Parts: sequence; structure tokens; C-alpha cells
Amino acid sequence: MIRKAFFPGCYIQGKDILRNLGEIEELKKKRVFLLATNKAVKSIVPENLSTWKSICEINYEKFSGACTWDEINRVLEIARDGVYDFIIGMGGGKTIDTARVVARQLGVKYIAAPTIAATDAPTASACVVYSNEGSVVDYFITSNPDYVLVDTRIIAEAPARFLVSGMGDALATWFEAETCDRSNFRNICGGFNLRAIMSLAEACYKTLLTYGSTAKIACENNVVSPALECIVEANTLLSGLGFESGGLSTAHGIHDCLCNLEGTHAYYHGEKVAFGTLAGLFLETRPQPLVDEVYAFCRSVGLPTTLAQIGLEGVTDRELDAAIHPVFDNKQSYLHNVRFDLTPEGIVEAIRMADALGRHLG
Ligand SMILES: [Zn+2]
Repeated sequence: MIRKAFFPGCYIQGKDILRNLGEIEELKKKRVFLLATNKAVKSIVPENLSTWKSICEINYEKFSGACTWDEINRVLEIARDGVYDFIIGMGGGKTIDTARVVARQLGVKYIAAPTIAATDAPTASACVVYSNEGSVVDYFITSNPDYVLVDTRIIAEAPARFLVSGMGDALATWFEAETCDRSNFRNICGGFNLRAIMSLAEACYKTLLTYGSTAKIACENNVVSPALECIVEANTLLSGLGFESGGLSTAHGIHDCLCNLEGTHAYYHGEKVAFGTLAGLFLETRPQPLVDEVYAFCRSVGLPTTLAQIGLEGVTDRELDAAIHPVFDNKQSYLHNVRFDLTPEGIVEAIRMADALGRHLG
């Protein structure tokens, strides 16, 4: 049995760390290309550019907003001309993924600098590329960032819904890793789980329960509190290592099914993953005290516990069934990473139970 895990080279988290680019020694006097979101170009870049220029030779480019092959090729052409040593992706998951692919194609070092803690993508090696129409066209593994720079002041100043969504993505981590580990399913790295990763996944879940609700309040008030810092670490590092090296299962599988229903398109990845986690509790017959604990957590931070809260009020069984089938029929889907034979009907029932308990709790 081969156990395997992927890690980023270095993870740096703290208040105002972007000001000095994480004091990364090897950045000094190097040529650096920064791909940044529109928002970062308007605020973070003008505030810090003169300091950055005292550290390294830096040029920046605004990200178009979509991680498509057109955008990757556009940025690749610009970055290729500059003969850079480092590429930094600054923004949300799509900016980070675009910069990641460009850096790996050019064979240069890559720094992920997330400005929100909405998913666990920044520490990971997986990339998602979309079509110009917005559907997923490619999903592949590159390699993890050489550095991850997480400035907690910037995260605290972003809307709290991003942080809560990140908690939804992180909520799935321990459950999915535990399912994969118990049943000997391979993780995203293609190996079996190390004890180190199982400990991190458990720490991820416990951190959410301990600090989730106070971190949300901190974020709503733009305060970089210790609780917020713990949750940023859970959402970004613990969840990132946990999903990639611990494996995915029903929560993300059900998320993929829900994404096939148009009503959910206005909701974030982590919000749908949270509901997928709830449905997974019923699918996998988790004990009632654990179910109660997870529902109490979701309600305390404002993660969805009903179908109506992810845009699916009044959805019929037939519609759910039609949404489940494309995922269910793909035998490679991590939806099948469970010990028993799944049926689409059983998945519909689990989704209905998750919604029923959510509505019952009010
Ligand atoms: Zn996820």
C-alpha cells in the first residue's frame, strides 16, 4: 500500500504580510510577474507597489475574471516576454488557477496569494479551467504552489460570506477523508492516506466547531481576531491538504449533482459542499449526535441546511434525479467513494432527509 500526500513548499499567514511579500528571501532582486484581480489592482497594488519595487522587479497585469484557455494563453504571452523568475496569482480561485497554469507552463516558481478564504484551492495542485460559456472543460493536477501567502487583514476586509463559504468547503474535509481512509479509496494524489493527513483533517473539523461562529463575527466587523486567523488556516491550509491528500467522497459528489440544477448557480462552491456534507451524513448513516453537531455548526455560521437556502425551493424528485444521473453514471466520480452500492434513489432520499431536518430545525 502506497501512502501519498502533496504539500505546498511554504505556507505563510499573518496580518499585513503582503506588504513585504511574506519576507521571502529568494524573491529579493528577482523578476516577478503579478496577475491580480480587478479589485486587487484597484486597492492592494497601489497601496503596496512602491514597497514591492524596493524588494524585487515587479510588473502586474489585471486578470480578466475567468480561468479559460483564452485567458491562460493571453497571460502566458505577456509573462513569457518578461523572462520572470516568479509568478504571483492574487485574488480568488480563478486568478490563482490561471497564474498557476502559466507559472507551470513557463517552468518558474509560483506564489498563491488569496484575497478571500472561500475555498481550499490556494494550497492545492488541482486546476479547473472553464469554457468561455462558464462550464468546466478541464480539471488536472499541476503542482502545489512554492509559496502560499495569506494576508489575514485582506481576508478580514472581504465580505464574510466568502469566509463562511470557505467553512462549508472545509466542513466536508474530515468526513470525506475519513470515508476514503476507512474504505481504502485513493486520495487525489493517487495514494492512500497518511496518518499526518488524517490528523490535519480532524483538526480542520475541530477548528471549525471551536472558532467558526466568532470568526464570522470578526470578519463582519473587519477584525483580525485569533479566531478568524484559526478559521483562515482551517479553510485554506487544513482543508487544502485534507481534501487533496485525504480524498473526496459524497459531499463533493453531491455538490457536483446540485451544480446541474440552475437554481444553485448563484451560490458559492462551499455553500453547496456544506449541503452535500449534510446529505452525506444520511447517505452514510452517521450517528445522530454527529448529525446534530454538524447541523448546529451550520446554523451557527449561517451555512445552508435546506434546499431553499441553495436556490432549490420546490425542486421535484424527477429534477433531482436528472441532476444526479450525469454524476452517478461517471464511475470515476468521487461520489462513488463509499463502501456500499449507491443508487440515484438513495441519493435523492439523503438530499430530502438533509432538507427535512434543516426545515424541522427552522
Ligand atoms: Zn471543495
